[in-house]
Amino acid sequence: MPNLDPLDLFDVKSMLAEDERIVQDTVARFVDDQVLPIIRECFEQHRFPSELVPEVANLGLLGSSIDGYGCAGLNAVAYGLICQELERGDSGLRSFVSVQSSLVMYPIYTYGSDEQKDRWLPAMTAGEAIGCFGLTESHGGSDPGNMKTYAKRDGDDWILNGSKMWITNGNIADVAVVWATTDDGVRGFLVEKDMAGFDAPAIENKMSLRASHTAALFFDNVRVPNASMLPGVSSLRGPLSCLTQARYGITWGPIGAAQACLKELLDYVETRILFGEPLSHKQSIQERLADMARRITTAQLLSLRLGRLKDAGQLEPTQVSLAKWNNVRMALDIARDCRDMLGGSGISAEYVPIRHMLNLESVITYEGTENIHKLVVGKELTGVAAF
Ligand SMILES: Cc1cc2nc3c(=O)[nH]c(=O)nc-3n(C[C@H](O)[C@H](O)[C@H](O)COP(=O)(O)OP(=O)(O)OC[C@H]3O[C@@H](n4cnc5c(N)ncnc54)[C@H](O)[C@@H]3O)c2cc1C
Repeated sequence: MPNLDPLDLFDVKSMLAEDERIVQDTVARFVDDQVLPIIRECFEQHRFPSELVPEVANLGLLGSSIDGYGCAGLNAVAYGLICQELERGDSGLRSFVSVQSSLVMYPIYTYGSDEQKDRWLPAMTAGEAIGCFGLTESHGGSDPGNMKTYAKRDGDDWILNGSKMWITNGNIADVAVVWATTDDGVRGFLVEKDMAGFDAPAIENKMSLRASHTAALFFDNVRVPNASMLPGVSSLRGPLSCLTQARYGITWGPIGAAQACLKELLDYVETRILFGEPLSHKQSIQERLADMARRITTAQLLSLRLGRLKDAGQLEPTQVSLAKWNNVRMALDIARDCRDMLGGSGISAEYVPIRHMLNLESVITYEGTENIHKLVVGKELTGVAAF
């Protein structure tokens, strides 16, 4: 029997600190015991497993990188491992944690007032308040500088008009971090679900991320108190810095999805007898499996390096772009190839690859499409922005 772990050929696990390994093992157990038994049905029923939120919170997975406010204060590598293990279950659950942690709690923590932090962070880390992040608009998510949502100052308040599209958690959120143009630059507003003129209808009929809520947000003269504006940033740097946090975690997530696909496939090719022998004995099948292991290993090493850079305060957004592009593409290709090697069975949700494949179609689009991340790297190499 081979000595190496087929899902971790370079023994990346041995490069983790003990507390990082404990975090990974704890989340892995949660995924095995509580996520995997229900997630296929959730996907089929287009249902987010909200019953898991209390345990996700209990394990300290919400806002895990934040120090204080009841948050776990873990390092970046531990956050990455959380994303990896959750996405081994399903990209939808990982998206929930990414949005809550990196796109809602992070901006409140980084750009919010003391009152905003005191009000929202303890409730959000406990899973008692859910957040969403509204940046994308229907006329072009890749070009956030073309934002039309507008907030106008009116005495002690702001009047918000416009709309957002494709917003994860939008229809279940207690608070939305909404980015809008103002006469004073791009500002973030904490819009609460019961504010008059605010509507967040769910987007139905998704064929991807079916175990996750996605909504549109509409603002019709919503009156937002000035105390609910994030005081610490007044430019696109605000939302873009949040995206760097979330994209960092997303580089790890698809590693878990790819491992889940490969693991299932390794069992299958061993027991599937074709032309008188197991499928695993065929050269071309082994080449395809080897290619998957190569690509998973590369992605693991990229993300670990990225995490160490982040913990050292040296992470550059271009590096995150390269890793998001590489790792999501890796997982999407692997999920699709596993689907193929399962033959007809591969189109059944009884096997995980097709669910991961469909989910990864969202992951490759959101938080900057693959094209956009290539252009970010191209800009770094040439000094020319070709967007
Ligand atoms: C399930 C899901 C959840 C999401 N969650 C959120 C969320 O919580 N919050 C949020 O704000 N947004 C969210 N998004 C939105 C997501 O970030 C956008 O869909 C994404 O940024 C792309 O924007 P778009 O859909 O408008 O596509 P477009 O920007 O219209 O892009 C269309 C195509 O054109 C390509 N393209 C764009 N510009 C260029 C260029 N300059 N050169 C070459 N090609 C180009 C793109 O790569 C893409 O292939 C979510 C999306 C999905 C699908």
